Amino acid sequence: MKKIAIALGALLLVLVVVVTVRTIRFVPSPSDTTGVGPLPSENDSILAEHLAGAIRIPTVSYQDSAPQRAALTALHAYLARIFPHTHSTLAHERVGDANLLFTWAGTDTSLEPIVMMSHLDVVPVEPGSERDWTHRPFSGDIADGFIWGRGSLDDKVGVLSLLEAVEALEALVAEGVHPRRTVYLAFADDEEVIGRGATDIIAVLRSRGVHPVVAIDEGSAVVRGVIPGTSRPVGLIGISEKGYASVELTVQGTGGHSSMPPTQTAVGALAHAIDQLETHPMRARLDDGTAAMFDRVGRRMVLSSRIALANLWLTRPLVLSKMSRSPTTNAAIRTTTAPTVIQGSQKDNVLPIRARAIVNFRIIPGETPEIVLRHVREIVDDSRVAIAFAGSPTPPSPASSTSSPSYLIIARTIRALEPDAIVGPSLVLQATDSRHYGGFARDVYRFLPVPLGPADLARIHGTNERVGVHDYARCVAFMTQLIRDLSAQ
Ligand SMILES: [Zn+2]
Repeated sequence: MKKIAIALGALLLVLVVVVTVRTIRFVPSPSDTTGVGPLPSENDSILAEHLAGAIRIPTVSYQDSAPQRAALTALHAYLARIFPHTHSTLAHERVGDANLLFTWAGTDTSLEPIVMMSHLDVVPVEPGSERDWTHRPFSGDIADGFIWGRGSLDDKVGVLSLLEAVEALEALVAEGVHPRRTVYLAFADDEEVIGRGATDIIAVLRSRGVHPVVAIDEGSAVVRGVIPGTSRPVGLIGISEKGYASVELTVQGTGGHSSMPPTQTAVGALAHAIDQLETHPMRARLDDGTAAMFDRVGRRMVLSSRIALANLWLTRPLVLSKMSRSPTTNAAIRTTTAPTVIQGSQKDNVLPIRARAIVNFRIIPGETPEIVLRHVREIVDDSRVAIAFAGSPTPPSPASSTSSPSYLIIARTIRALEPDAIVGPSLVLQATDSRHYGGFARDVYRFLPVPLGPADLARIHGTNERVGVHDYARCVAFMTQLIRDLSAQ
């Protein structure tokens, strides 16, 4: 008995030593701490006015209709007026429906070019929610230190800041500042609905033999109060993106009068299937992007988080279980299950002839749409429920390098913008146009230099979308520095 106690005590001691040593060694590496110094300052109010003007043109994408060509054309004309240098010096063309592609030729055409992406369209404002906005959704009002309106965060902020950056850099050409690598600005017209714009642009670039070294899109940001375990701002560079699959569940019913129903109607059978899927989520796992984020960001977290993240070999189940408890962190560790559409009978006293539901899955890297479909079949396990993909699923994107020169330049520029920020890679939870760039550009990164807190996350696609006037000016300064450094590498 005594021997067993001694052995257990020794084992516990070894465990404590291993956990302690690993935690002590889990500190930031020196390369994580250097930036490039303060970014150049811009004239805040002029920049804000330019962005506000673009917000006032409602380039809304609706789910089942073609891009709003008139509004998109008006936006093109507005951009040509505001950015005369860029339009007179860079090659620019309308691709497909209303996508815009700018080409700024580099001095060394043997180098692979860079692609800076954004999109011209915005999501609609939920009918009935207009009066909840402090400033009308397309007012482009500048008030209380913010630029208000749909597109101020997603993603006219990207289009305008990139054009401001090129316009400013273009003015330096006379002083000998030339991009070495060719720079493309690729602005899609339908990111919010289909993403055909991005594939049209890629087709044009491919036909010209273009092989980008890097493509940069929206998708991640500098977040505050969003990552547990640290109160510092965290600059997250999206290195991969979750996949997307919608699965349709259909149950055939008998129809007839609802006064003499069967024990379970088609709606009841469907509801049971949906309940099964919600109560049996897909399994939690750490993909490469989230694991890399923990490795980089975790080193600067509070001690309890550092102990846990330095010893994932021991604490993984605990960490995954804790992350499962909030929707944001849960989405980072598993393929999520979201029943979104349900339809039954058209009338309260008529039994459904057919009941139909759509369940949307966001697929974590390491899994595939086929794995999702298999999971649905296994869990539902009901021959009355027909199961098939609704639309075409998209697999998760491959992970881009966290040691490429482009990644290091982005990280360095974030530190210049936000010296206090922890910078690290991340998995992007929502779909962006950059998923199409996976097999095209060598590396794809998703980052927009806008600071976002928990309340701001709800403003994207939501009510009272806005960006700080000063934050936007810093975003322009960031893009200027980034384009200069990426094109010079
Ligand atoms: Zn967007």
